Amino acid sequence: MSEEAEAASPKTSSSDAPAGAPGLVTIDLDALASNYRHLRERAAPAECAAVVKADAYGLGAAKVAPVLWREGCRTFYVATLAEGRSLRALLPEATIYAFDGLMPRTADLFADLEVRPVLNSIDEIREWAAHCRMAGKRLPAGLHLDSGMNRLGLPEAELDAVASDRALLESFELSLVMSHLACSDTPEHPKNQAQRDRFDALRRRLPDVPASLANSGGVMLGESYHFNQVRPGIALYGGQPAAGNDHRFENVVTLESRILQLRTSPAGDTIGYGATRHIDAPRRIATIAAGYADGISWLLSAGDGKPPLSVYLGPHPAPVMGRISMDLITVDVTDIPDEYASRGAMVQIIGPRQPIEAIAEQAQTVNYEILTNLCRRAARRYVGGDA
Ligand SMILES: *Cc1c(COP(=O)(O)O)cnc(C)c1O
Repeated sequence: MSEEAEAASPKTSSSDAPAGAPGLVTIDLDALASNYRHLRERAAPAECAAVVKADAYGLGAAKVAPVLWREGCRTFYVATLAEGRSLRALLPEATIYAFDGLMPRTADLFADLEVRPVLNSIDEIREWAAHCRMAGKRLPAGLHLDSGMNRLGLPEAELDAVASDRALLESFELSLVMSHLACSDTPEHPKNQAQRDRFDALRRRLPDVPASLANSGGVMLGESYHFNQVRPGIALYGGQPAAGNDHRFENVVTLESRILQLRTSPAGDTIGYGATRHIDAPRRIATIAAGYADGISWLLSAGDGKPPLSVYLGPHPAPVMGRISMDLITVDVTDIPDEYASRGAMVQIIGPRQPIEAIAEQAQTVNYEILTNLCRRAARRYVGGDA
């Protein structure tokens, strides 16, 4: 949503929310495209791929992937074969890699879909090589080298056996070597350089093929992390890779919901489950139709002296009072003009006024989890993207 549109009226988008669906997630495909262009410029001359796993971090790969393709993105990453299958139907010509690699007896499925597994171990390499020999085709696959994260990828101990087996390496097309950074959200962490140097040393023991290390945070760490290709995810979707970065990625996702009811609650009463919040003077309370079933974590409940989360009624912040319920949030609107605090008015919970990082910090989680938890119940609306 443009800032003008957002500032224009507290109820700008109410008319777009389908009747009976109080919550609305708006996904700004122009902001997505702009974030992609920024990453591409930063990474050039390296290629800028895009990570669209988990249904494009919950935003909807069916809308997101074609926009990125129109911007010139040609290489996409998913986690699973099933995600690869859906993406292949959307983008028949794209290069698609699947991070999870080969599960036993799935090589023919990858080959049929022309989805490239990112091979993680010598067993996976042998399986892919065997499939290629049987099919009589040197099919492409990536290789993940573990540079110190100890999660996925070929352990250094297995690299010698792979590097010295020419017949094995020649039976398929090694189209990419990659690794993954553990600490790119903390630019000053010494692990970043250590992983970069280790990845560079490991890849030199293999044939000279395109190399990729950087996720979103890695792109921001600078040129020495870019190698031949970068593969951002979160920054495309408006997440900030690290607190101190010199660029703010544009907001892509806005979550709004409606005020269902207003009341003036008397002093001496309590609000919500657990009766955790006592009212010491009469307060005007608005009840909003969103809760943890909409991805607003129960951990965002007010209490224990921590500063409460606020939602926004137009420009006015309204602090959460009491616990978050499954479907409802209660906020204090005592000082907010009736023009904003009215039955049926839209309230911004996530968006330009409240970045996902602010919510993540309060909920003691990461911006990634905020994104992937949205979009369960709220209606979804896409704007921009010429779509
Ligand atoms: C998810 C993922 C990415 C994208 O990371 P962001 O931090 O979202 O940019 C890149 N590489 C791998 C291996 C991943 O799993």
